[in-house]
This record gives sequence, structure tokens and C-alpha cells, in this order.
Amino acid sequence: MTTALKADPAKWIEDIIRDFIELSPENTLQGPFREKAFEHPLVGFSRGDDPLYESYKEFVGPYHWTPLEIFTQTFPGIRVKAGELAVISWILPQTQATRADNRQQSTYPAERWARARIFGEEVNVKLRNRVVDVLQKAGHAAVAPMLAATWERKKSDQYVFASTWSERHAAYAAGLGTFGLCDGLITPRGKAMRTGSVVARIKIPPTPRPYNDHRAYCLFYSQGICGKCITRCPVGALSENGHDKVKCLEHLRPATAEYVKANYHFDGYGCGLCQVGVPCESGIPVNQDVKS
Ligand code: SF4
Ligand code: SF4
Repeated sequence: MTTALKADPAKWIEDIIRDFIELSPENTLQGPFREKAFEHPLVGFSRGDDPLYESYKEFVGPYHWTPLEIFTQTFPGIRVKAGELAVISWILPQTQATRADNRQQSTYPAERWARARIFGEEVNVKLRNRVVDVLQKAGHAAVAPMLAATWERKKSDQYVFASTWSERHAAYAAGLGTFGLCDGLITPRGKAMRTGSVVARIKIPPTPRPYNDHRAYCLFYSQGICGKCITRCPVGALSENGHDKVKCLEHLRPATAEYVKANYHFDGYGCGLCQVGVPCESGIPVNQDVKS
């Protein structure tokens, strides 16, 4: 075990994640944009026995894994209690350039945004693998739930579809943000981001959650104002009733996929227009951010 790990495991893991995003050439949009896919990350931790994870069986779906379920599924030979596990979560903010480009769009994604959706997510996959690898080498069994062969998205009577592990819900548990009208997670670095997580057998104090409501940072729910994301959506998938996942998905595929192929010449898709040009784009919004 390294000295840094022994002294402060939270900082040790934060440094691994920060170094990867800030120093690794693998953090790239690829193609003509010889630049980073993501800016400085945020990192948070939640306990494996946090009651929120049991509650996700009600609020996400009965098939949503607890940290213990995905851990024991991955390591059937290891006997462990939920409280011995930690969930490591991170937020990867979109770059200023990506946000600025997508802000100009009114129907289809900017090329940088579409690249962040595809090649940026590849960065996120590499980061999950990197965190798992470093932990395992230090003697801490670890798994990235999103990369588990059994991860799947299922149909949901209540939510149209939901998955066996939600990165955004793990980030919420780790104090990294709350949900907005459009379903995106509003973090201290805003809603224009991607998120990832790893479950590990390691003792790390949980990050305090500076909220007690899952929609605390969204001005629509907290103050009854804003709703700016509604008008950003090109296909009417957002309203005061929330996010119409079916309309949103129908726009993503085939419409944005065809556009990305024809205009940017790679297989991809993306939208995220509701994540930019809104008060919660790059931080937790306050009333003054809402201009008429
Ligand atoms: S744009 Fe406004 S209403 Fe929409 S998620 Fe952000 S804060 Fe909430
Ligand atoms: S991602 Fe695009 S289509 Fe989906 S809700 Fe946001 S703006 Fe609308």
C-alpha cells in the first residue's frame, strides 16, 4: 500500500482522477480538435450502505443495483458488508469551447459536443478502468458498474426506461449535485458534464451532501422560476411536467445521428442543447442568473 493511500485515501483517489483528466493525452476530443474533452473534475464519495441506494430501487427501478449487489456479483468469492464499500463518483465538466459551440446551436449538436458524447465518453470509460486498475493493484477490489457485462437499460412503467446503475444517482449520493427539470444533474460545475463511478472495498469518509432535496439546485423546483431549458429543447421534450424521454430519444436517434454522420463524418449522436445557454450550464444557478 502506498504512503499516500494510507495517509488519505480520498485525496489519493482524487489525485488519480485529476491527474488523468489534467495530464493524460487520452483526455481528448480526437479528430480536428486537438484539445481536452473535459476540464478539471469534481470527485465525491458515498458509503456502500447509504440508505439512498436502497431507495433507488423505488425511485429508479427495482433492478437498480445497490453497491453491495454489483460488488458481490463481480467478486462472488469475497465476503463483504455494504458498509465496507465506498462509491467513488466524479464529474467531468465540458470545456468552455464545447459549451460555447453548443450554445450557438438550435437544433443539432455542435461538433465538439458530439465528439464529447462519443470520444469524451471513451475517456470516461478509460478513467473508470484506470481507477479500478489502480485500486486493484493497491489491494482494493473494485468494479465500475457501468462497465459490468450485466449492466443494462430496461423498460420502466414509471420512467419509460431506467438502468441497473445510474451514474447520476451515484453522484447525487456523493454530494455532487441535484436533478434539474430536464433530468440532468446540476453540479457546482454545472449541468454540462459527464459523470462516472466505481464501487470499491475501501474505507473513505463520505462527502457531505449540501442538500436534502433531490431537486434543490433547480430554480424551477426550488423557486418556481427559470424553465429556460424548456425553450432550449428543439423537439418539445421539456415542459413544466419535466422530461419526455421518448421525444428526446427520438431526436437523438436517428435525427442527430444522421446529422453527425453527414456533417462531422463519424458515427455519433448527441444533443445537450438543454444543458447550455441556461442558468445552470456551468454552476449552481441563483435567481439573478435568470434573465427575462
Ligand atoms: S435551466 Fe432552469 S429550470 Fe432548467 S434545469 Fe436549469 S435551473 Fe432548472
Ligand atoms: S437532450 Fe436535446 S432533445 Fe433531449 S431534452 Fe435536452 S434539448 Fe431536448
